[in-house]
Parts: sequence; C-alpha cells; structure tokens
Amino acid sequence: MTEDAETDTALVCSAKGCTATATVALLWNNPKLHTADRRKTWLACDAHTRTLGDFLAARGFLRETAPADGT
Ligand SMILES: [Zn+2]
Repeated sequence: MTEDAETDTALVCSAKGCTATATVALLWNNPKLHTADRRKTWLACDAHTRTLGDFLAARGFLRETAPADGT
C-alpha cells in the first residue's frame, strides 16, 4: 500500500471548499455531543482562522487554538 504518500500532503484548511494550507488548529468540543475531555480539531488557513474561530466561539465550543503543525 502507499499510505506514505499521505505524509507529504499539506495540512488543508477545514473550511468548506477551501484548499489553502492550514496554519492554525482550532480545538473544540460540543458538550451536547462530546464528553468534556474530547477535542475535535478543525484546521484553518490564515483567511479562515477568524471565521471558523468565531463560529465555534459564538457557540461556546472553542477550547484552544494551536499551530496546525504543532506536535
Ligand atoms: Zn481556508
């Protein structure tokens, strides 16, 4: 199998239709769906960090932001 090919794939923004490289990871949790320690991750490019972050923050879901490639 060729799963190694995936490792070269750039981190891509999670915004609908956006194929830009993500720079920020938005870590969020929906208390209605997830246990408190669960984190969902959305990746965001520079253009969408604000819109995706605001979307999550407005719903009270946003927990943390981190560099997209942070390990
Ligand atoms: Zn984007």
